[in-house]
Amino acid sequence: MQERDCIFCKIVRGEIPSKKVYEDDQVYAFHDINPVAPVHVLIIPKKHIFGIQHLEPEDECLVGHMFTVAREIAQELGVAPDEELNGGYRLVFNVGKDAGQTVFHLHLHLIGGRSMGWPPG
Ligand code: 5GP
Ligand code: ZN
Repeated sequence: MQERDCIFCKIVRGEIPSKKVYEDDQVYAFHDINPVAPVHVLIIPKKHIFGIQHLEPEDECLVGHMFTVAREIAQELGVAPDEELNGGYRLVFNVGKDAGQTVFHLHLHLIGGRSMGWPPG
């Protein structure tokens, strides 16, 4: 999938509408169109990266930044755990088709607002 046809690149460029949660020069975050929990946000790099399998050493800072942004969004949307670790959220990369990856532009799921089971289905 080239940048031109990629659905998340189109979202970054504003060609497909999205409900923005956060944006800076490196990342864009928006509400998932099909939420699996009361809070379901996708954090994506603005540059097209196919997925975890395609990360380059130069992307390490960017991926670290995605986690920092996720933590801030979780705080802002009220799903961060309290001091006793009540509440909370899950951060997920689905890597490959068996894991449920359907969009091949790197994205970090932030899922929260309900209790979740383990292991995931
Ligand atoms: P994956 O299954 O690849 O880990 O996650 C892809 C996610 O992208 C899914 O949760 C799906 O609902 C979401 N998604 C797919 N297309 C769109 C879209 O056009 N807009 C938004 N906001 N989310 C999308
Ligand atoms: Zn893309």
